[in-house]
Amino acid sequence: MISRFIISLMLFALAEDESLNQLARAIYKQLIEINTTDSAGNTTAAAEAMAERLKAAGFPESDIQVLGPDPRKGNLVARYRGNNRRKPLLLLAHLDVVEAPREDWSGDPFKLTEKDGYFYGRGTTDDKAMAAVWVTTFIRLRQEDYKPDRDLILALTADEEAGDHNGVDWLLKNHHDLIDADFALNEGGESLTKDGKYLLNAVQPSEKVYQSFRLEVRNPGGHSSRPVKDNAIYHLAEGLVRLSRYQFPVRLTEVTAGYFQSMALLETGQLAADMKAVIKNPPDKAAVARLSALPYENALLRSTCVATRLESGHADNALPQTARAVVNCRLLPGDSPVEVRSRLMRILDDSTITVTPIGEANPSDPSPIRPDIISPIEQITSQMWPGVPVIPVMSTGATDGLYLRNAGIPTYGVSGFFEDINDTRAHGRDERLGVKQFYQGREFLYRLVKALSS
Ligand SMILES: [Zn+2]
Repeated sequence: MISRFIISLMLFALAEDESLNQLARAIYKQLIEINTTDSAGNTTAAAEAMAERLKAAGFPESDIQVLGPDPRKGNLVARYRGNNRRKPLLLLAHLDVVEAPREDWSGDPFKLTEKDGYFYGRGTTDDKAMAAVWVTTFIRLRQEDYKPDRDLILALTADEEAGDHNGVDWLLKNHHDLIDADFALNEGGESLTKDGKYLLNAVQPSEKVYQSFRLEVRNPGGHSSRPVKDNAIYHLAEGLVRLSRYQFPVRLTEVTAGYFQSMALLETGQLAADMKAVIKNPPDKAAVARLSALPYENALLRSTCVATRLESGHADNALPQTARAVVNCRLLPGDSPVEVRSRLMRILDDSTITVTPIGEANPSDPSPIRPDIISPIEQITSQMWPGVPVIPVMSTGATDGLYLRNAGIPTYGVSGFFEDINDTRAHGRDERLGVKQFYQGREFLYRLVKALSS
């Protein structure tokens, strides 16, 4: 009797899982198939499609809004009412995607294609899996008649990747109350496999700061048949060579020191030894040199500045009147853009090269590593993937988390969508996510939202 009862319970759970997978997949497909690129797409259409689904699931219209500064750049904000014992929890994902030229791809990037155990399509990882799972989670919790101890706010936003109407920035400036929260969950955490084995579940409480500079040399120019030593291109080129030889000093933060400490246990051989040696005070010099040769580890150790664009001259037969370059810097949290500009001028070491910031940097302080947030992530990770560690990381790139952090809303990147560490395709061609990994992420984020709101 008992065993028959348990078996029927298990079958019921399996059937429930299957119907949740189908729901998540349908939402995912709908989002992928609405083009949300900056050039030709429309996030309003995607936001409205999700609003319709939430209304159909029983959310009152007054708790669902599609709003934004531009008809093509709408954002969805929806509220799941709780009993207000704590400040709300914000669930964030961006709706927009990077451009995807059809001729670069094996299939149509704006069709969800399931093949060989993967979902293919633009946005399958960045960031429509998360958007689809947040909507699925809202619907599932509503069906369960779940009563959270705090409001859950869902924000699906525009222009994270490109465009002039960043949704998070706009919402904070114009409707701060609508998304004000104790803290937020966002993209930016990485769940990684290596050689088919589940490696780690990374939480991102911190990211580097983006700041580009324009370098420029002006010169009277003249006829190229009578060259002079004072040449705009040579000034700029020699300055750039000096920059190419320069390395910013190593500085570890709470997050990056913790990262190297944890990764030393997962890696082996010289790499593991170097990761241990680099967190010593002072860091071991040989270890720093070896880690600095690896692009990712190097980016964690220091601020970086690299030449990304170059243009100069106006004719093949004229001495150049201008030479310009763009240098893109990624600063460690706490490094000041003003100080980095003076440092660049010292490194370029040529008073004819002017250095001007392009746009204003948006520095954001790391969010605190709060046990009330990290512990549930650790517990659910070990339930679902026993032995897989949770490791805080600093993103070397930037996400919308910086706007929230600057507005006083601590933000944590966490995903649960495991991807191969050596084959991440966000922003690239044939972007994909494992079918099983998508469904696991659906379950992981659902459990996490519940744990953080009860
Ligand atoms: Zn993204």
